[in-house]
Amino acid sequence: MNLENCPACGRLFVRTPFRDICPSCYEEEERQFQIVAQFLRRRENRLATMEQIVEATGVPEALLVKFIKSGRLTLAQLPNLGYPCDRCGKLIREGRMCSDCSKDLQGQLEAVKKEEKRKQNESFRTYYADKERNGR
Ligand SMILES: [Zn+2]
Ligand SMILES: [Zn+2]
Repeated sequence: MNLENCPACGRLFVRTPFRDICPSCYEEEERQFQIVAQFLRRRENRLATMEQIVEATGVPEALLVKFIKSGRLTLAQLPNLGYPCDRCGKLIREGRMCSDCSKDLQGQLEAVKKEEKRKQNESFRTYYADKERNGR
């Protein structure tokens, strides 16, 4: 059995792969999801932004993001909705980071790789230089 504290209310509960919060919080989440689902049933509401949905439904943004990430809210139907980039918080609609951040991170990764290669070459060179010196 996997006893854990509920991240939402702190109560102990049995964690399962399907449930990461306690039953009563789960119920509350369900209730909130129904509110959002109800709101988005109207075609014109699907054009709402995150702030507009939070305002209209009273459901916190963090929970909306959770619904999106778990796939319960489908972004394909919600052109103005997204979730924050893991790195800078900009609204994105796929992956974990915005394109700027992934480009930036990619660049940093390459710089690190280059630096490592340079260091490798350097130690390689000093090694041989030492060897030559010692050999004489
Ligand atoms: Zn709870
Ligand atoms: Zn970003």
